[in-house]
This record gives sequence, structure tokens and C-alpha cells, in this order.
Amino acid sequence: MKIVLLGTGSPIPNPDNAGPSTLVQTGTANILFDAGRGVVMRLAKAQLVPAMLHGVVLTHLHSDHVCDLNDVITTQWVMAPSGTNFKIVGPVGTKAFIDGMREMLQADVGYRIGHHADLNEPPKLEVLEVRPGDTFTIGDQEVIAGATDHRPVEPSIGYRIEKDGESVVIGGDGVPCATLDELVKGASAYVQTVIRDDWVKSIPNPRLQDILDYHSSVAQAADTAQRGGVKALVLTHFVPPLSEETEHEWRELASGFSGLLVMGPDLTTLDVTTMAIS
Ligand SMILES: [Zn+2]
Ligand SMILES: [Zn+2]
Repeated sequence: MKIVLLGTGSPIPNPDNAGPSTLVQTGTANILFDAGRGVVMRLAKAQLVPAMLHGVVLTHLHSDHVCDLNDVITTQWVMAPSGTNFKIVGPVGTKAFIDGMREMLQADVGYRIGHHADLNEPPKLEVLEVRPGDTFTIGDQEVIAGATDHRPVEPSIGYRIEKDGESVVIGGDGVPCATLDELVKGASAYVQTVIRDDWVKSIPNPRLQDILDYHSSVAQAADTAQRGGVKALVLTHFVPPLSEETEHEWRELASGFSGLLVMGPDLTTLDVTTMAIS
């Protein structure tokens, strides 16, 4: 299995970081977790177009994680043969969100159906709402859903994929909790969104201070990974943006984790089988 950090950014605009999106490639399935700002461009850089995805899985409905899902849906629809199913999985609320998106895309869908003789139906979306404890499949891959704690954002879900003795966990946003610990236990690789709490605390902006109580700090992510005995901790959703100059500070903050620590710019890739980073 392979993990590609398509977008390592956050809601804070930064020209070098696309919004939160992570691609997991199992060898037979390409699964996109979240669809933040610029995701389709980053997919293209990773040699993929949305029509090559087997589905999209959402951790929660915060705008930074879903704002370019419409681009994924439209691009999949116009590039795949007419009538191709496209699976979208997320927490309760995803159906209403997708219904709103269909409404938003109505004009474009009408134009294209009217213009292309071989495009005769709107995007064929198969939307599945999941709850913690559920399992579902994307392509040929089984995925396990587990509760995360991103309150007051509810529900929020993390996911675990297991294949050939390897396992990948997508933690999404949130603070450490028992159900995340359960999901992470013994994983080969655990991807967690993080913020630098020391940096946030130094900025006297109340709206920024608000993010402290529902995101894992780097040290908290390291502790979760250490408790779970995971082989690799993959950090993403960097607040503030990660740079070569500051990487050593992030590494220091994660010193509670003794395994392989992975971080880097957009498109950083971890081969979970060999643990090679590229
Ligand atoms: Zn969030
Ligand atoms: Zn976020």
C-alpha cells in the first residue's frame, strides 16, 4: 500500500499547500480521503484523474476537507463513460451535503448533457453514510470506520484499511480519544492532521485560538502513535505551513514517538510495504 499526501494545507491559504486530501493506493484500489482545495491538480501531479479513483471517503464536512469535492465529482463525470457509478462515503450529513452539491451543479450538468450526445445522465453518485463500527468497501477494498473527537464538529470519522498484513489509518481532524486509539492500534501507518499549538498560542487572534481545542497538537499525535505501537506516523494539515527551515522543530515536538516520522510537502509519499519515503 501507498499513502500520498496530496494536500498538506489547512484553511489558511498558502500557495504551496493544497487543502487536506490523502490518497491511499492499495494496488487495486485508489481511495481519496477528503477533497480539499486544489485536490484535482494534485491528483494530476500524482498521475491520476478523478475517473481513476474507486471512491472518495470524507472524515467530516468542514469546508477545508470538502471544498473541492465538486471538482472531483464534475471531472470524474465528464471523463468517465456515461453512467459510471462514483462512490462517496462519509459521516451522517454527507447525503444532504451531496444533495446540495447536485443542486449547485445543476446548470453545468444541464449544459453538458445538452451539448454532448454521449453524456445523457447527471453524475451517478452512490452516497453512503457510515457510523463508527461500520465497514464498507471501496472498489475491492474493505474500510473500517471509527469515531474521532473533533467536537463541536459531529459526527467525525477516522478510517482503517487493512490489506496483506499492512494497515493504514486516516485519523482526520480531532483530539486524542479512546476510539481513535482503538482504530490506530498496531497500524503500519497512521496519518494525523496536526497543528503547532505553540505557534497558535503565540498569535493573539481569538478565531485562531479557537482551533486549539479540537485539533491534535504534534505531541498529541506522537503520543497516540506511540500508544498504538504504529510503525509510521504521517503528519499533515500543517498549521502553520511546514517548511524545510522549521521541519526540525516539528520533529522535536513529535519526539514522543519512536517510530518512523513522515512529513513533507504536498505529494510526499510513503510506501507502506517498504516504508520508503519519496
Ligand atoms: Zn475539521
Ligand atoms: Zn481541517
